Amino acid sequence: MKVFISADMEGTAGVTDWDQVMPDKPDYARFRRLMTEEVNAAILGALEGGAKEIVVNDSHNTMRNLLIEELHPQAQLISGSPKPRSMMQGIDNTFDAVFFTGYHAAAGTQDGILDHTYSSASVRQIKLGNLIVGEAGLNAALAGYFKVPVALVTGDVTAVTQTKKLLPQVEAVAIKEPIGRLAARSYQPVEARRRIKEGATRALKRAKDLKPLILPRPLTVELEWTYTAMADRCMLIPGTTRVHPRTVAYKARDVEQAFSVTMACLVLARSTL
Ligand SMILES: [Zn+2]
Repeated sequence: MKVFISADMEGTAGVTDWDQVMPDKPDYARFRRLMTEEVNAAILGALEGGAKEIVVNDSHNTMRNLLIEELHPQAQLISGSPKPRSMMQGIDNTFDAVFFTGYHAAAGTQDGILDHTYSSASVRQIKLGNLIVGEAGLNAALAGYFKVPVALVTGDVTAVTQTKKLLPQVEAVAIKEPIGRLAARSYQPVEARRRIKEGATRALKRAKDLKPLILPRPLTVELEWTYTAMADRCMLIPGTTRVHPRTVAYKARDVEQAFSVTMACLVLARSTL
């Protein structure tokens, strides 16, 4: 069995603030180590559940967070940015299951630690067809395009509950309970890792019965931005339409194209900041 892990950082045990997850901040060195250990817990659980090959894609910020020298030797690491498929770089139809570790809730979610969707500064909402999606939803849809189901999600209780609403079969491991956006009651890291490892094993034991998230094709992706200038820039992409001063839409032939247009718009939106 082959497992793809998309590893984010905000959903790591103990994280409640940007100061803990941004490389230029003093607390970051501690929390990148805790992030690495949670990914290792997911790897250990996956191996116990029957995984033979594991690819980890570092999916947070610069995508250079995980300490490769401390990563479990049976996993391979994709790191660095930019990557065309960003948080899902490396996914293809050879995988049997996807894990989302350290994930957080979508932009605009109440009581979600550091809630955002791909960019805190730029994105208000992303809609894929009729679904409002956060990172978990958008990334699960791309995995679904390759017919790979999401088997595990870890993060705060709001994030994993939101993911489970979209993917009812997913194994959800909640390791902290938000108190608003910037505070939480968390398991101690050792206990969080125990839960993640056990969750990963359970997830893989059920992996064969999981259904990938298959969205209709074609489908429209709608991107709502913080500022109108961001929507202005997205209009540079042929085929985009302005459905609201802050929102652009694009009718994509499939999820893969919708994902690419979203990534391109994120780059354009960032250029206005
Ligand atoms: Zn992140």
